[in-house]
Amino acid sequence: MARRPLIAGNWKMNGLTADGVALATALAARIRENPPAADLLVCPPATLVDRVARAVEGSGLAVGGQDCHGERSGAHTGDIAAAMLKDLGAGYVIVGHSERRTDHGETSAQVRAKAAAAHAAGLVAIVCLGETEAERDGGRTLAVVEAQFGGSLPEGATPENTVIAYEPVWAIGTGRTPTTAEVAEVHRTIRDLAEKALGSAAAARLRILYGGSMKPSNAKELLALTDVDGGLIGGASLKAEDFWAIAESAR
Ligand code: PEP
Repeated sequence: MARRPLIAGNWKMNGLTADGVALATALAARIRENPPAADLLVCPPATLVDRVARAVEGSGLAVGGQDCHGERSGAHTGDIAAAMLKDLGAGYVIVGHSERRTDHGETSAQVRAKAAAAHAAGLVAIVCLGETEAERDGGRTLAVVEAQFGGSLPEGATPENTVIAYEPVWAIGTGRTPTTAEVAEVHRTIRDLAEKALGSAAAARLRILYGGSMKPSNAKELLALTDVDGGLIGGASLKAEDFWAIAESAR
């Protein structure tokens, strides 16, 4: 089953209007000149979703949020509903990123509610999973990923409305990555879990991204793995050149 790769950039808390729009516009221009063999997505800070979405409209570059609330609306000061992101032109939203799980104490139950809210608003939820260094050292990687997968995926998840991102916490922003054998093992496990949860036909269509220090120099090797269907990229997504080079590695 051929799955079209997804190369997604998580800009995190970086960028003001001028640089965010310039980065997205540069990527949109490259897509128009030389359409990639992957779907490309940028997830700017919420403050820039509107401007970026308008700047790249019609280019094929998708835009997403980095988080949404699990409720549709209500008394949640400072939070953003999935429908608000959709309203600005987003097509995707990242949920359960380890920085949210750590900085905001988000549980898998909350991540599941956020993914369900994303689906209800018509967004694709990118559900992040991954072990800490202590969990890997303790031999618990697969158990942690299994528990997070089971706890974070809502009813009604399909390969069309959900993408999984495997992101070992210790590889995010550190320049360290697991070996390709370790990545392959976790992705195979996630595919097996998806088979049990969604059935084999759906599991075969589900995109499973790798995230954690992906860069131009290691992208080709990681993206060549059978069950790696793209990347979720932090630091290297802030430079058009690097992000584009990663996208080109998916050819
Ligand atoms: C991320 O935050 O999702 C990520 C993968 O970051 P980096 O690429 O910088 O490791």
